[in-house]
Amino acid sequence: MQEYLKHPVFKLLSEIAEEKGIETYVIGGFVRDILLHRPSKDIDIVVHGNGIALAEAAAKRLGNLTVSVFKNFGTAMFRYKGMEIEFVGARRESYRADSRKPIVEEGSIEDDQRRRDFTINALAISLNRENYGSLIDPFGGLQHLEEGLIKTPLEPGITFSDDPLRMMRAIRFASQLHFKIEDRTFQAIAQNKERLRIVSKERIIDEFNKIMLSPIPSKGIYLLDEAGLLEQFFPELSALKGIDTVNGIGHKDNFHHTLTVLDTLSLHTDNLWLRWAALLHDIAKPVTKKFVQGQGWTFYGHNYIGERMVGKIFNRLKLPQNEKMKYVQKLVNLHMRPIVLSEDIVTDSAVRRLLFDAGDDIDDLMTLAEADITSKNEEKVKRFLQNFRIVRQKLKEVEEKDSVRNFQPPISGEEIIATFNLPPCRTIGDIKNAIKEAILDGVISNNYEEAREYMFRIAPQFLEKKPEQ
Ligand code: ATP
Repeated sequence: MQEYLKHPVFKLLSEIAEEKGIETYVIGGFVRDILLHRPSKDIDIVVHGNGIALAEAAAKRLGNLTVSVFKNFGTAMFRYKGMEIEFVGARRESYRADSRKPIVEEGSIEDDQRRRDFTINALAISLNRENYGSLIDPFGGLQHLEEGLIKTPLEPGITFSDDPLRMMRAIRFASQLHFKIEDRTFQAIAQNKERLRIVSKERIIDEFNKIMLSPIPSKGIYLLDEAGLLEQFFPELSALKGIDTVNGIGHKDNFHHTLTVLDTLSLHTDNLWLRWAALLHDIAKPVTKKFVQGQGWTFYGHNYIGERMVGKIFNRLKLPQNEKMKYVQKLVNLHMRPIVLSEDIVTDSAVRRLLFDAGDDIDDLMTLAEADITSKNEEKVKRFLQNFRIVRQKLKEVEEKDSVRNFQPPISGEEIIATFNLPPCRTIGDIKNAIKEAILDGVISNNYEEAREYMFRIAPQFLEKKPEQ
């Protein structure tokens, strides 16, 4: 394994470890990732002895680098040549039923490997002189890496009951690496699903977001569902499952549809929040579902209700309550507009209104709307995508002509006040709005001269009304 120890820090650590008589290994994610030829960002060093002393001695020789020491945890960290290098003493852990926090004691390297979540994360490479570069693999991690298998080093029931976050991690690795979870390991997840309640929402969502960012996110989400974890923290998503039938007419399974949309979209973007918009675009379908005679299944207002549900879900799952949430809400609200537009004759004014409502997120909205076409009827898909190309072309033309994407009213409220000598009143807003509507309808172009002339034209009808204070 010596060929994998290219980073110059390893040789130096080996020398100091030898001088100080400290057993030293590189362990965990770094070893897994170099064996998988994935880029790795951190190096974890585990030592049998004083990890802080080793870190300090190494940092000194590398040019007095700053070391962050966490005495309580017996850990230390410094950065060198683009890597974060963390030192920790080998430990043994035992758990109580009500907490993810273990009782920690000093242990051997084997103890430390045993406390790791999966065999592929328990691999270590020796930095000791006598066997520098050899792989320490007590649980068959290398073979499992080759087979693409997620498996716990110990009895899986104990591993997951001790720290239920590991259940999320198992599925996250399966999704990220496209690995299979060994049967017994998977069964143990299903059996321990309710233990997820002792894991904080922040930790759950951290793993969930890694699933969302994996190449085929549906892989992880189907596994979460199958294991029964999804309904524990995301019941709204589970509720999309299933098909109701009335008079022999069924609707599509919205869970399956949503995940297809998410996967298709993920081929085109790594934007986590756009992926969230895909995940939530139909989230209100179960609560708005209604069978109407003569029409079949309807989901009236599912985009508006969905927008509101996004707020509640983001709040509960401790996702950011800021412009990222607003972006997801906006896309959920608008997600059907491009389709409706493409079904009709694409008029300039409809395009202008869409541009106005979507603003800078118009391209993302189009990407979402295109991914939303999941019909099995190839002809239909082809027709829609062709129409979308027309919509995109029109969007470009209209934007070039009218620039309504980031609409700024060409006439300000102050100008209306000054021109008509008005006190602050509703009429000002009404006039401003009428100008905006005229631009969006294409009655006038989006420029100052036409807007001012239009203002004089329409003002009388507003000014005749008595201004309300
Ligand atoms: P990534 O870098 O992709 O987030 P990672 O697992 O390599 O994944 P960390 O979360 O920093 O990164 O974990 C580093 C190592 O610590 C893991 O490889 C594993 O050996 C161990 N580990 C992390 N979390 C747990 C856990 N909950 N239970 C047991 N071992 C864990």
